[in-house]
Amino acid sequence: MKQTITSEAIPIKLWLDDLAGEALKQARNLANLPFAVHHIAVMPDAHVGYGMPIGAILAADGIVVPNAVGVDIGCGMSAIKTSLSSIEIENLKQVLQSIRTAVPLGFKHHRQPQPLDTMPPLEGSLTIVEQEYEAARTQIGTLGGGNHFIEIQRGRDRAIWFMVHSGSRNIGFRVAGHYNKLAVSLSKRWQSTVPASWQLAGLPLDSKEGQNYFREMSYCVDFARANRSAICRRVRQALLDEVSAAITFAEPVDIAHNYAAIEQHFGKRVIVHRKGATRATTGEKGIIPGSQGSNSYLVRGMGNPESFTSCSHGAGRKMGRKQAQKNLDLDHERRRLEAQGIVHAIRGRRDLEEAAGAYKDIERVIANQQDLVEVIDILTPLAVIKG
Ligand code: 5GP
Ligand code: MN
Ligand code: MN
Repeated sequence: MKQTITSEAIPIKLWLDDLAGEALKQARNLANLPFAVHHIAVMPDAHVGYGMPIGAILAADGIVVPNAVGVDIGCGMSAIKTSLSSIEIENLKQVLQSIRTAVPLGFKHHRQPQPLDTMPPLEGSLTIVEQEYEAARTQIGTLGGGNHFIEIQRGRDRAIWFMVHSGSRNIGFRVAGHYNKLAVSLSKRWQSTVPASWQLAGLPLDSKEGQNYFREMSYCVDFARANRSAICRRVRQALLDEVSAAITFAEPVDIAHNYAAIEQHFGKRVIVHRKGATRATTGEKGIIPGSQGSNSYLVRGMGNPESFTSCSHGAGRKMGRKQAQKNLDLDHERRRLEAQGIVHAIRGRRDLEEAAGAYKDIERVIANQQDLVEVIDILTPLAVIKG
């Protein structure tokens, strides 16, 4: 940990030394929520989000806050090690082409609903999930927009890996929006002491609405995992189809970074909200991606209670999307990737929102959380597909 802020109702523990502006204000708001427990933890990748910084952890007593989970419920990373020890550049391009045909990108979805058994089972009544279910069957196994990616990488032992970043597509977005709106209107009725301007309206977990959100949110976490798993299946197939070698695949490492879960911390049962943060219990494997032009890290959790057994979910943004498109230099960003031989996804100015220069320095972000995770492997990018 780098520093503690003690001026608010509960402490804010920070794993970075340069939290400023709106993100700092949001962290202060969290530390003044009447139901926040023990302290607020801010990871080294933190930056401003909607209501709560992305890269922060809130433990709450009896209240679940939709905006402390985030709009892409269950968004996360999967990483799979292959038995390949090399791949030719031409072959790599064929693999990318094959993935592009098999996995709908951006806002595209499948023409046909996918088989029922690819969907997590429905248990009990789930209002929004049921409304979205049929549409979700055409969205499972699709990547989604801008920040989501499929990347081919090389490990320290030269083994070829691939990594998938995706979430719960429209179904999670709908659940997040519906219950945030509901929390806002009920907070007025309940005369909540949390100012509306903080955008942190919550639902009591023992209310009907709180229970419903928690169940629908949990479904979306499962859906997001099933979505990544369906994408991974298609990437595996693309490799098998395009590379003339027998390939085997290790078990995926899969971790979510936008969710709430009931856990025990500091002797109390609390609702832990990880928004742009991943769990890092003792021995648990996790993924901390950098950017399309930098290393990603495979890590093992150290179970540090100070971060509610969590770590960062990436390098984190250094610049907002618009700011990156305006301020980054297109030639510089392209050259930087081409010098490393990366088959990249920067074609025009618009793509600069996802350029390496828009993200923080991953090596520094990793160095700032040595008390949270150990590094198991370093994955260097070879080729990337963006949503
Ligand atoms: P988020 O879920 O908040 O959009 O992003 C997760 C993290 O993924 C970002 O903080 C960033 O560090 C990382 N990231 C974004 N784009 C890429 C990419 O193309 N490749 C890799 N390896 N990491 C990325
Ligand atoms: Mn997402
Ligand atoms: Mn994400």
